[in-house]
Amino acid sequence: MIRNRRLSKSIADAGWRRFITYLSYKAEKQGKRLVQVPAQGTSQTCICGADVPKTLAIRLHECNACGRVQDRDIVSAQVILQRALSIVA
Ligand SMILES: [Zn+2]
Repeated sequence: MIRNRRLSKSIADAGWRRFITYLSYKAEKQGKRLVQVPAQGTSQTCICGADVPKTLAIRLHECNACGRVQDRDIVSAQVILQRALSIVA
């Protein structure tokens, strides 16, 4: 089944759909709200909005626009939070 490209994509989509449904249920149960954020480019963007292209091997985020130097995963998480807050607002 995994070798069938269309079927494997459907299986993967069903897995994500189930995960998001479960996560949404858990959030509501805690009085919270699940916000889905488009993840494209979160590791290539700075919090200031500037593009900071880097390969996966480069683990440090260095923005020439605002001078931020930080772990790329931390910056990506902050960009995701920023996007979520803009959706909620
Ligand atoms: Zn920046």
